[in-house]
Amino acid sequence: MRCPVCGAKMKDVACRYCKTTKKEVLTASNKKALELRKNDREKAEDTVVYSGEIPSDVNATKLKVLTCTLGWFGANDFYVGRYARAIFKLVVTVPFFLLVILKVLAEMFLWYNLQNIDNILYWLSFLAAITFFLYVMDFVGVFTHKYKIPVVLGDKDE
Ligand SMILES: [Zn+2]
Repeated sequence: MRCPVCGAKMKDVACRYCKTTKKEVLTASNKKALELRKNDREKAEDTVVYSGEIPSDVNATKLKVLTCTLGWFGANDFYVGRYARAIFKLVVTVPFFLLVILKVLAEMFLWYNLQNIDNILYWLSFLAAITFFLYVMDFVGVFTHKYKIPVVLGDKDE
């Protein structure tokens, strides 16, 4: 387990560096983090941390299925509230797919007036490569505690 506060490996009950306890990490809440971000941005900036452990109020199966199936479109990021990342994936991957389909159709029906598609696709494919890379990272990460979920830590007492 990695400490979500300082990133160190947690071997004992608590992090050697910042004293965050394993219990705090295991009782962390994603819902609370999202609520706090909505209601009190400043406090959220101080309180919300990114945990590799899937908190109990996130459905682990649902998260894994979303990541594997629609991860390229940002579904898993939307689910845990990583909205900037989610929107980036969505606005790149959806147009990329649509243009690929359009290109296939254009070639099938010989719409030669759609040659500009190639130019747009060329540039968009670089961005799509980035979102695909993120998708693969998340795919692996969600099974290896590397995919980070915004949380508010739980109670400190043991
Ligand atoms: Zn720590």
